[in-house]
Amino acid sequence: MPIIHIGLDSHDTPKGGCTTHFSILLIKELLKLGVEFIDYPNLIRLNPSIPWKTRGNGAVVLRLKVPENKLAEVLDIAKNLSKEYTGKEYFKYRQPGLAVYIGKDIPHQLRVLYRKALTDVVPLDVALSIASKVGVKILVPKTHRGLVGAISSIGALQDLREDYTFELLAYRSRDYVGLRQRLIDKESVKQVELEYRDTLFNNYDFEFDEAVITPHGPDPVLFGLRGNDPEVLVKALSKIRVLEPISAWCIFRSNQATDAHLVYRRISELRPYQTCMVKATVVSKPEAIKGGHVRLMISDGSGKIYAYFYEPTSTLRKITLKLIPGDQIIVGGSVRPPSRSHPYKSINVEKLVIEKIVDTILRNPKCPRCGKTMKSAGRNKGFKCPKCGYKSNMLSKIPIKISRDVRPGIYTPPIRSMHHLSKPISRIKHENTGHRIKLIDKWCEITSL
Ligand code: ATP
Repeated sequence: MPIIHIGLDSHDTPKGGCTTHFSILLIKELLKLGVEFIDYPNLIRLNPSIPWKTRGNGAVVLRLKVPENKLAEVLDIAKNLSKEYTGKEYFKYRQPGLAVYIGKDIPHQLRVLYRKALTDVVPLDVALSIASKVGVKILVPKTHRGLVGAISSIGALQDLREDYTFELLAYRSRDYVGLRQRLIDKESVKQVELEYRDTLFNNYDFEFDEAVITPHGPDPVLFGLRGNDPEVLVKALSKIRVLEPISAWCIFRSNQATDAHLVYRRISELRPYQTCMVKATVVSKPEAIKGGHVRLMISDGSGKIYAYFYEPTSTLRKITLKLIPGDQIIVGGSVRPPSRSHPYKSINVEKLVIEKIVDTILRNPKCPRCGKTMKSAGRNKGFKCPKCGYKSNMLSKIPIKISRDVRPGIYTPPIRSMHHLSKPISRIKHENTGHRIKLIDKWCEITSL
């Protein structure tokens, strides 16, 4: 039976709709046809710094086995349903993407394209040219920008082997879509996160005592529960007290919470909107600037750049204020282009690794004759005492231990201000690896969509 990969993107607008919600409608129709899903629907997040994204720059890929004689029907259903979903008034200026690859193994070029879309900016014509080379079918007009996400997310399959997570997304019933508040008992979210803390993550922000599973907009998502294990997500779902109807839920496999977007780059190579990890030395004292932000000049030998820690990064910002020149750090984030208010390129930091801190400083020696701190007598000329005039080129600087209120380690912002792709500290050494995906019996329930 042929295997097909259906990539979807941009089936959402700030006024309503959501690509994952559209994918549920499509799954419902495909299940009626008797196809076999070989993977959970993939929720693939792409470059988080793309300025034209609506929310989290998410695309969805459905991977399934389809009987040869139903292949054409599957493509028709996808195409027609997409047209219907995006035909609404508020979709007028959207450019939804829908692309299909037929084949068991994903071509290498698609994998490369995915990595580019995850970490950089991909022009539409580049995505289309790769699609045409490897035989990806395009089911919407080729001018649609949503095709960048639809095509490149298909290529995520191999990279998911290195690490992946799950998100159980629950959807509102039609009568409730549009009401800003989601009727969920926050305390039950806290209890569930505590009960399954070994595998759930980023559902409750204990620092700010806040449940972070619900969006706030007019989209049909009721909440999303994130974790490492699909079985636990289903158990957790039954324990969340939900005070409005759930019309459907589905478990997605995802690159969320894996740091997949953070790639090492040199400062001299950084281009606007790229994601990056930069290994550098602090070269200036941190400065607290207007708006509660902090900035720091860093250098890696290839160049210097300001790293910005914005106010919502909270704890991360506070730690940064304790850094001093000479500290060795790694910053992860994305490149902000120069603008009128920021005339130079900078890094928006979302993760800080402090590798090595300065713990000794060198001080000029004391004068052996009068005890006053000496001054340099010039390059390679030793020291001279400003009080008694004593001179010596036998003396050298004295190392002095300093106490620091900061330790080497990995620092992230509070959960409520984390990007979807950012890996929480609790997932370190709990990565999901491998490619044998066995779907649990019930990974999706659609009642009244
Ligand atoms: P949601 O999270 O609700 O799905 P979204 O944030 O994904 O919304 P979209 O409407 O899908 O918002 O907008 C993202 C747009 O950016 C899409 O058109 C997608 O094809 C495009 N895109 C995604 N990644 C890149 C990239 N790396 N380079 C260029 N365009 C991209």
